[in-house]
Amino acid sequence: MDSTKASQELMDRSKVVIPGGVNSPVRAFKSVGGVPRFIDRGEGAYLFDVDDNKYLDFCCSWGPLILGHGDPDVVSAVKTQVDRGMTFGASTELEYKLAKFIVDRIDAVEQIRFVSSGTEAVMSAIRLARGFTGRDLVLKFEGCYHGHSDHMLVKAGSGLVTFGQPSSAGVPESMTSMTALLPLDDEEALNQFFTENGDRLAAVIIEGIPANNGLLLQRHDYMRLLRSLTEKHGVLLILDEVITGFRIGMGGAAEYYGIIPDLITYGKIIGGGMPVGAFGGRADIMANLSPDGPVYQAGTLSGNPVAMAAGLATLGKLADGKIHAQLETINRKFVGKLTTQLADSQVTVAGIGSIYWIVFQSELPRAASGISADGISHYNRMHEAILRQGLYLPPSGYEVCFVSAAHTEEMMAGAADILIKSIKEEAHTWA
Ligand code: PMP
Repeated sequence: MDSTKASQELMDRSKVVIPGGVNSPVRAFKSVGGVPRFIDRGEGAYLFDVDDNKYLDFCCSWGPLILGHGDPDVVSAVKTQVDRGMTFGASTELEYKLAKFIVDRIDAVEQIRFVSSGTEAVMSAIRLARGFTGRDLVLKFEGCYHGHSDHMLVKAGSGLVTFGQPSSAGVPESMTSMTALLPLDDEEALNQFFTENGDRLAAVIIEGIPANNGLLLQRHDYMRLLRSLTEKHGVLLILDEVITGFRIGMGGAAEYYGIIPDLITYGKIIGGGMPVGAFGGRADIMANLSPDGPVYQAGTLSGNPVAMAAGLATLGKLADGKIHAQLETINRKFVGKLTTQLADSQVTVAGIGSIYWIVFQSELPRAASGISADGISHYNRMHEAILRQGLYLPPSGYEVCFVSAAHTEEMMAGAADILIKSIKEEAHTWA
């Protein structure tokens, strides 16, 4: 890599007109240091920055790009739709087609509504759950991210369960006082919480596979307990599949665990790289939405035709499951190679489907409290050096890596070699 001069200059200029120079905080590289790269273009598995450095992309726009950059079918679908019109503020057949595609394939989803982001999907699903049940309290889990709507910005306190401490300035306590927080992977805490609060709980929301604060793989038994407790107490289970939807196979995390949630939220892949979110589930619950029911929800660009076209083209290519199988094989090999060669390094590599996460600790945590802050700082310290060797890893040790269908076995083998060497070098600094 020759230079980051053009990225640096753009960052300096952006900082004048955009807070922190970025439109989403993690892009500022605050955790990892180094120059935040400004991207010029993406091609297949690669990103090119404005200094014309080339990177193998393991961020994949944080998940949407399961087919890689510039998939010809997605691009063609988008171009065709752009020529016909970019937004109408009226319904199109494309919305019906994408809704039908998802409803036909996902057992839990009898009806679905499209929005423009994952945040909006979650916010709407929670309003719907509250409207449907007539209850206010919502339970979420420490280490799960559900977008930045006020009532989801809750941080952990000292006790087993915390009510309503906002984790962002600008969120009044009254907005989060109806959000309870529990640690993941703790059956006892869950049982106790339901015994005490189950009957005033509207919904429990959990990430399909928690992947915003490390990759916290949950046990099937734990997820089944959650399903049975929610059922018993008339509480809606919202599975947030913004990341896992159509990534962990066509059936997402719901299929992986063998559970049927009441509502599912989507984003990322279903928009094929365009801004999309969605929430769907049982028809009797969805019937409560405006215009048929009393729960208000709307959006100027909801179901945007260009986004629907990109989503349909993407999901259409995934439908026969071959791409998921190929991705899983490639990722498993890659994770296996890292795991074997780093056996002495106190580094663990977690993988599921086409997601992997490198953590500098000898055991894989299942709850947020199990993540070693020291371990994360090792990842963060390696980040710039790895970028300079041509791998674009997400700029925070808490974030997971994504593999796309454009990543080949050769690319993955080369990336594994770079990572193994860099991790071993970093490991020496604390051995
Ligand atoms: N839920 C989950 C599980 C997510 O991973 C994200 C985004 N990373 C969101 C919700 C919010 O989605 P968005 O950034 O599109 O608002």
